[in-house]
Amino acid sequence: MEPASDPNLSVPQGGMRRASQLYLFSLQIEGEKSEEAKEVIPQVWEGVSEKEWNDWRWQLRHRITSLEQLKEIIDLTPEEIEGIKHSKGRLALAVTPYFASLMDPINPNCPIRRQAIPRIEEIHLSKSEMADPLGEDNHSPVPGLVHRYPDRVLLLVTDQCAVYCRYCTRRRLVGSNERSITQGNFEEVLKYLKSHRKVRDVLLSGGDPLLLENERLEEMLSRLRAIPHIELLRIGTRAPVTLPQRITGGLVRMLKKYHPLMISIHFTHPKEITDQVKRACNELADGGIPLGSQTVLLKGINDKPCVMKKLVQELLKIRVRPYYIYQCDLVMGTEHFRTSVATGIQIIEKLRGHTTGYAVPTYVVDTPGGGGKIPLQPDYVVSRGRGKIVLRNYEGKVFEYPEPNIIEFKKTRSVGEEKAVPKKVIA
Ligand code: SF4
Repeated sequence: MEPASDPNLSVPQGGMRRASQLYLFSLQIEGEKSEEAKEVIPQVWEGVSEKEWNDWRWQLRHRITSLEQLKEIIDLTPEEIEGIKHSKGRLALAVTPYFASLMDPINPNCPIRRQAIPRIEEIHLSKSEMADPLGEDNHSPVPGLVHRYPDRVLLLVTDQCAVYCRYCTRRRLVGSNERSITQGNFEEVLKYLKSHRKVRDVLLSGGDPLLLENERLEEMLSRLRAIPHIELLRIGTRAPVTLPQRITGGLVRMLKKYHPLMISIHFTHPKEITDQVKRACNELADGGIPLGSQTVLLKGINDKPCVMKKLVQELLKIRVRPYYIYQCDLVMGTEHFRTSVATGIQIIEKLRGHTTGYAVPTYVVDTPGGGGKIPLQPDYVVSRGRGKIVLRNYEGKVFEYPEPNIIEFKKTRSVGEEKAVPKKVIA
């Protein structure tokens, strides 16, 4: 590409210009009409150099944050326009040029667009929705730290994300200041962790920890790694999806120093898996970092079994193990995204046995108020009887499994020796 005539140009002043379409891969979803999934570079950025486009800091600096900028690249619906106008004070609007380039400029139901562009439905609040649906604030012994399970903690290292997802569980926190945890709070966190020897696993989240500069992130990882009872470090991120340029050789070389370290990546739809994302995940996997995915079940975006099947299969191809499907939390202004729980169970029904076991994630409801994740799956038990259990398989065929007759040996002391007295237990 030619260098930009104005290096600070985020959206040119030339009025509406349509995208130049770059067809990078084709997306065929089983049972649906063939669809071209295309990575589209909107013409508003046609003067941007390849070097700039592939620079994660350039992408962050040039995020779309206003109605006027969005109008330059997509045909906004009245619902979206109203949603954007009302988004101030609720959850910031921010979209990287890269992620915007995946949006269908014409179709408001584009899954990328639905995730990132506010709609008027966000102002509707249902009675069951909460500011803090998982009760994290009540489990926070030190600012920035959530300690809900005995052996692991959640560390919120920043409130900044590359793109703000409209269904974000932490919308009460993210995007307001775009700052990382203060040094003082981090020192408090370290002090707490040093004195809680049962904690063996720290999950860095936010916001998005990979938006921190390498040096800042390394300082945190190295100081956590230095605590002897911290066995495992994990990072929860969406950067490989919304800002894949962030995954650089330098970042991976730094992360490799802190193994065992795992990364959970927030994926939502197969359209997100572009060549850029494949490269990013390959670099992380080549760094020996186990990758898992986390996906929020979203109405009209990924609530069809064929869409989820395509997603999990594409994830395995880029060495990301599908890990969780989350039922959408009871976050304020997100009822339009929520499906029934039955929809989630139905998706697992259509995956288990129908595709590779590694591709089948665990479907969980993160219970309101801080009860933690509860896994749900179809009921494969037809009946239980004396000495047997009747099961059905993924095809609906019924099988009987005889339970073992367990012999328990009860030690009784007889004259000078131990005598085993069998006790029959029938399950
Ligand atoms: S990336 Fe995660 S923390 Fe950030 S807005 Fe999306 S869901 Fe929320």
